Amino acid sequence: MNTLLHTPEEFMRAAIAAARNSVTRAAGGPFGACIVRDGQILSVSSNHVLANHDPTAHAEVMAIRRACDKLRYHLLEGAEIYSTTEPCPMCFASIHWARCKRIYYGTSIADVDALGFNEMSLSNFQMRELGGSPVEIVPDFLRDECLELLNFWSGLESRRTY
Ligand SMILES: [Zn+2]
Repeated sequence: MNTLLHTPEEFMRAAIAAARNSVTRAAGGPFGACIVRDGQILSVSSNHVLANHDPTAHAEVMAIRRACDKLRYHLLEGAEIYSTTEPCPMCFASIHWARCKRIYYGTSIADVDALGFNEMSLSNFQMRELGGSPVEIVPDFLRDECLELLNFWSGLESRRTY
């Protein structure tokens, strides 16, 4: 794990790199997540839905599991999560349950819905509002680089939606 990364941009790029690596192995969709606390990366993961035969193995859930396992603790209070695409409702709820304080995301649920993924049309801002969650949301973060990741995936013969 590279702990020499310091900026929000570098944390998001770690998530993008994990996703790129993962889609070239057809492990899952073009999604990555990185969890950071006190300027230190706790975990980075990509989507493992296909490799694990697990519809819940989204990048954010994988990253939360890894970070909690590393800390041997079930909460990630004060942590930030960098997600290449806006977390789905399941992941938003997981982030809320983990007590992460802030989500940064690049592309939106609408972007990947347009690619054919079976998304629920419920934005993070709606989830936050409807559920009364205190999680802060930073949208469109490095959006262009996250869009490039989706375009990279779109060009792969092995791509699969679900
Ligand atoms: Zn998700």
